[in-house]
Amino acid sequence: MLLKDMPNDVRDRIIPVARPLDSVMYECITCGKNYPLTQLLYTCPDDKGLLNVRNNTFDELRQQDPDMLKKIFSLRKSLDDPTIINDQALHGVFRWQELVMPAVGLEDVVYLGEANTPVIAANPFMNEYVGTTFQLKHDGIEPSVSFKDRGMASAVSFLNYLYNNGHLKGFLGICASTGDTSASATLYLSALTHNEGIHSAVLLPKGKVTPAQLSQPLAAGAQVLEVPGVFDDCMDVVQELAANYDVALLNSKNGLRILGQKTFAYETAERFAYDMKDKVIVVPIGNAGNVTSVLSGFLDLYELNMIDTLPKIVGVQSENADPVVTWYETDKFEKVDVTQTGPSTAQAAYIGNPVSFPRVEKLTQEYRSKGGNLHAVRVNEQEIMDNMLLANRNGLTVCTQGGEAIAGLKAAVEKGYVSGTEIAMVDSTSHQIKFAGFQMDYYSDKLRNPSDPGRNYGVIPKKEYVNLPQTVQKDVTAVAQTLGLTK
Ligand SMILES: *Cc1c(COP(=O)(O)O)cnc(C)c1O
Ligand SMILES: [Zn+2]
Repeated sequence: MLLKDMPNDVRDRIIPVARPLDSVMYECITCGKNYPLTQLLYTCPDDKGLLNVRNNTFDELRQQDPDMLKKIFSLRKSLDDPTIINDQALHGVFRWQELVMPAVGLEDVVYLGEANTPVIAANPFMNEYVGTTFQLKHDGIEPSVSFKDRGMASAVSFLNYLYNNGHLKGFLGICASTGDTSASATLYLSALTHNEGIHSAVLLPKGKVTPAQLSQPLAAGAQVLEVPGVFDDCMDVVQELAANYDVALLNSKNGLRILGQKTFAYETAERFAYDMKDKVIVVPIGNAGNVTSVLSGFLDLYELNMIDTLPKIVGVQSENADPVVTWYETDKFEKVDVTQTGPSTAQAAYIGNPVSFPRVEKLTQEYRSKGGNLHAVRVNEQEIMDNMLLANRNGLTVCTQGGEAIAGLKAAVEKGYVSGTEIAMVDSTSHQIKFAGFQMDYYSDKLRNPSDPGRNYGVIPKKEYVNLPQTVQKDVTAVAQTLGLTK
């Protein structure tokens, strides 16, 4: 729709206004101190606490009619107006600009087609299998093939804004990654690296990202450094780098990432017509940036009276990297040394010391005080693989983390955290094709091998899930026979 054809009462709100830079501030989650966003900062200089990005315009939004806000956010999706610069960016995370990043106007947004992802209803077989009705929000349908593009769009757009406005002369965008953060960061940075002084680099645990994931930062022209070790080792290095050198850290430790990722919650609420009663959100947990975003996204909507019930959140982890589940069960947080627990096919979430955990702990307290709840469940490697393969045979193209999430929903129903009358939205965080190697290894029984501990997942292939190609000759009768066709 053209801007001029938008309804009169909201037309002048469709194009978001860029507010001054001090409309947003860093806020330490430990001491509450604020810092300006003109500098790149990831932890509080005083006490090393994590920094959130605080939105100073939020009180203003609270005064506004929630139905009007819903209408504005919704109509932006249908804006197609070639006379407006970067109009398509309103189809992405900046559709929610007032909630995501009020300082950035359309002209500085890096939009590559992220967000606004499809929702797929599970078929009756899958609903019965997990024990409740569920839908899949397919965040694998994003430009770099994972949900990370939501947060990267907000973080890189903000860096672009700082650069374009002379606050930054240039920067090296860098992250540690289990594969998808690096794919996303380098893709978004590649849209900017033609500018003088903007560079891109990633640190990966050698051999612990899939071939597709390794190809992505290479394709984007980034410098790719492989470190022998696990993700937590890479994260240690980039955190030190960010503390001592002038780099733009693009891990979800950076509060700017959390902002865009909140749109998963906004879109989900919108999809349920903002009625979150008896709704459940299921997310796999790795570094805990995503679950942080989901919690704070729904809290935003609740504070703005756009929803009147907070949905239930279910976080899922592999038993080989389960610090958040242990905290949920015991109220004590202890990092897991994942070199001692065994590997995980949910490799993108295979993290023993989730950086955003302090955010999760704090937000969960607030979430519960407002009537919502967060549960956490652990699943094993067999369940992750079986659920991924089963889902893919039922119209749901999920990766191993998606299999983990579906297995987690089933486990949450079995434990009584979720009842059969609730409707779940499962976050499909990436796509089957990025993790196809695990599928093929399952088919050929290569996921258990005690002599190779790094790849000994202990997964036994179930005959009914194995599917291998058959060779046939160029002969109709032979093909027909192989297919079981009769005349
Ligand atoms: C990053 C990632 C996760 C984990 O998300 P966190 O924000 O690190 O908790 C889950 N699934 C996929 C596919 C990912 O890339
Ligand atoms: Zn502090």
